[in-house]
Order: sequence, then structure tokens, then C-alpha cells
Amino acid sequence: MPVVAVELAGRPYEVRVGTGLLADLPAQCGKLLRKRRVPIVTDENVARDWRGIAQQSLDSAGFEPQWLVHAPGEGAKSWSGLARTMDWLLEQEVERGDHILALGGGVIGDLTGFAASILKRGCGFIQLPTSLLAQVDSSVGGKTAINASAGKNLVGAFHQPSLVLADLDTLTTLPARELRCGYAEVIKYGILGDRAFFDWCETDGAKVVAGDRAAQEYAVTESVKAKARIVAEDERETTGKRALLNLGHTFGHALEAETGFSDKLLHGEGVALGMVLAARYSARRGYISDDDAARVTAAIDAVGLPSEIAALDMDSDGRKLAAHMLHDKKMDAGTLPFILLHGIGAAFLDKEVSLEDVAAFLDE
Ligand code: NAD
Ligand code: ZN
Repeated sequence: MPVVAVELAGRPYEVRVGTGLLADLPAQCGKLLRKRRVPIVTDENVARDWRGIAQQSLDSAGFEPQWLVHAPGEGAKSWSGLARTMDWLLEQEVERGDHILALGGGVIGDLTGFAASILKRGCGFIQLPTSLLAQVDSSVGGKTAINASAGKNLVGAFHQPSLVLADLDTLTTLPARELRCGYAEVIKYGILGDRAFFDWCETDGAKVVAGDRAAQEYAVTESVKAKARIVAEDERETTGKRALLNLGHTFGHALEAETGFSDKLLHGEGVALGMVLAARYSARRGYISDDDAARVTAAIDAVGLPSEIAALDMDSDGRKLAAHMLHDKKMDAGTLPFILLHGIGAAFLDKEVSLEDVAAFLDE
């Protein structure tokens, strides 16, 4: 089983990628489970498919799992979701040396991680990511948060888990569209920093979304390594290195905003199309060849992720989209920081991209 050793905030922990991990929770968690009662936070969808297996594996070793099940969706990452979680954890008499298990996608991981960071001034937690996005992105790096009225992820903390168990079995029940969305973040690591991994995605990426175990294991492991490497270089987002992870996200957020953050365009779909636009815009600026931009487009298109704005049912006016970007970030004299490409596998932060120019590009 591939194990990625991560060391962040001076604290080493493992990300294990494999199958049968939920069915083997007691052995996997080992001494991290100090008490009989084990608090587990999840959502209804994940509970429907995976609660039984986790329950059985803990039962058989004499543990007594205690469950808090949230409604699925972003709504749980809220003040009310946090209050419910905190009150429940306190009722469970969770103490600082204990570990809370977060079984679910990025929503449950972010919420539970944040709750763990403030419960009794910080207790432990274990990530059991069940979506591809959570396995390759949100469960690694230590960012935890809830949303506020002013925007997403605005209330949070850096808090590293003690262990991450990415059980590939869970991907079998993940809706295909969610699997594709997670894959957008996978191929992102290739486009931003690893040309060889991008080459692999070109040939084998479709297998990941088709459910091929070996391909999924390789994709998750390489993605976790890439994320851990980047985050280790810039843990608190001070040097700009971590910003490279936002490749495709500025264009993507504008598209998500224009479609009202609805089912019309999920986050991963926005990021996929956003990476295509970042590549094309980089070609327009003469940083990469048209051929490389076309390769990025083809690799996104090949797995059924959107690669053309025209295919979306939305108003694609360049100025309107650029206005959404403005709303996103601090505006400085008509320019915005953007992650662009010097090549496939060579992203860089261009601190002063003219919004006027981006709007004109989007209207072409
Ligand atoms: P999610 O947690 O909402 O999961 C997506 C959907 O899939 C949900 O309906 C969920 O119930 C369902 N689901 C999850 N696993 C399943 C499984 N195995 N079987 C069946 N259904 C399953 O969303 P997500 O895409 O996993 O994560 C998105 C969240 O992650 C956002 O809130 C985002 O802000 C956050 N995020 C955080 C970081 C970070 O660094 N902390 C990074 C990226 C994203
Ligand atoms: Zn993302």
C-alpha cells in the first residue's frame, strides 16, 4: 500500500492510499484510538454507503463508534453546522488527547477539522476522505474552515490531521460527476508542476474516472505527494508557492459565480474549464505554444469535463466574468494576480494581469 509521509507544522503524519482501509480501522488507527467510544462525523450519503463497514470494523475490536450525521452539502460548513458539531463533541466528552474521525468529502473534512482545532483549544482528528477531491486535495495540507455570509472558507484554522486514510473502495459509490470533479484537481498537479504526470494523465486519466483501481491508486498517491510538497514549501501561504494550487481557480470562480454556484457548474468543472482558459490565455501572451494549450484542452475534454465556455448555458460576456474576478480578489489598478503557464508542468504567479486584457480574451 502506498504511504506518503507528510511533515507539516513540524508534525509528521501518514497519508495511506489503498483498499479495505475502512474495514480495517482499528489496526489502521492503532494507538490514536485511546478510548472505547470513537466519535465519527459524516454526512447522510456517506453514512448510507459506508457507516456499516466502519461500524463493523470498530465493533469487532471492541470499540463503540458514536455517530454525528450531517445533511449532505455545503450547508454543513456553517455556523449552525459547527455549533451542532461542537455541542455533540462536548456531549461525547471528547478530550484534548482524543481523535475525532471525519468520514466524508471535503465538507465533512473541513468542518470536522475546524471543530477539532477549537475543541478544548485543539484536539486530534483523523481524515477518512471519501470523495476523490477530498483524497487528493482537501484532506492534505491542514486548511480547515466553515463558510460565512461574506464568503467561503473565511472562518477557519490551520490544523493538521494525525493520519489520513484514503480508502479507494469509497470511490465506488461516489457519483460519476463528483469523480470527474475530483479528477480536475488531479490533472491540475500535472499541469502546474509535473509534466511527466500530465503525460500519464493524457494516456491513463480516463481510467481514473472509469473506476480502474490501479490508476486511481497512482493518481491519488501522486496528487498527495504533489500537494504535500507544495504545501511544505509554503505552509501558511506567505511565499506565493501555495498559490500555484489555484491554477484554473480564478477563471473557475468567475464561471461558478456567473452560474450562481449551482448544479449547472460544479467546482471541479469550473476549475477544469478555468485551467483550459489559463492555458489558452498563456498561449495568447506568448508564454506557451498553441499546441500545449490544445493538449491541456484535449486532456480535460477526454474525461468529460467542460473545456468550452460556449457549451455552458450562461452569459459569457468577458467584462461580466472579469467583474466576478474583481469581486474575488483585491483589485490593484486594474490588474489581478493570475496563475499562468510557462509550459505544461511549469505554472507561475503573474502578479499583474490586466483585467481589460482578460476580458478581451474571453470575448474572442
Ligand atoms: P462534498 O463533501 O460535498 O462531497 C460531494 C458529494 O459527494 C456530497 O453529496 C457527499 O455526500 C457525496 N459523497 C462523498 N463521498 C461519497 C461516497 N464515497 N459515496 C457517495 N457519496 C459521497 O464535497 P467535496 O467535493 O468532497 O469537497 C468540497 C469541499 O472541500 C468544499 O467545501 C471546499 O471548500 C473544500 N475544499 C477544501 C480544501 C482544503 O484545503 N481544506 C481544498 C479543496 C476543497
Ligand atoms: Zn479547487
